[in-house]
Amino acid sequence: MTMLDTDRALVQAATAVAKLRCRSDNHTVAAAARTADGRVFTGVNVYHFTGGPCAEVVAIGAAATQGAGELEAIVAVGDRGRGVIPPCGRCRQVLLDYFPSIKVIVGTMDALRPVPVAELLPETYVWGDHQLDAPMAVRTGQWPMPSVPSSRPASED
Ligand SMILES: [Zn+2]
Repeated sequence: MTMLDTDRALVQAATAVAKLRCRSDNHTVAAAARTADGRVFTGVNVYHFTGGPCAEVVAIGAAATQGAGELEAIVAVGDRGRGVIPPCGRCRQVLLDYFPSIKVIVGTMDALRPVPVAELLPETYVWGDHQLDAPMAVRTGQWPMPSVPSSRPASED
C-alpha cells in the first residue's frame, strides 16, 4: 500500500501533538486516527506503572467520545523527534478487534507505509466472544470479522 495525502496529513497531526503535548514522562507518544469521512482524532499515552493506556487507545477513546464511527487509519509518533513508532502488541490486538480493516502507518520517516492491522498480527488470538462465530475467518485471514459483541451499544452508522 502507498501513502495517501491523507495518510501524510495524519502523520503530521500526530507529530504536531507529540511536539506540543508530550513534554513529560507521563506523555511520551501521540497518536492520530482518521475516520472514513476524514475526521481526525488524536490522543497521547497516559503512562502509569499500573498500565496506563497507549496513545492509540486514547485516540480510539477520543474518537468514540466524539461519536466517530469506523476508523480507517491510525499512526503513533514518539516524543523528542523519534518519528513514527509501531503499535505495541496490546494495541495491535485492540485495533484488530475494534477495527479489523484499519490501516496502521509504520516504517521509518523516509519510508512510511500503511499496513492492514491483520498483517501486523498473524495467527491472531480471537477474542472469546468472537470465537464461536468466526474461527475460520480468522484462520483464513478473511477480515473483517462479524460485528462486535451484542452486549455493546450499536454504533451510530
Ligand atoms: Zn500500545
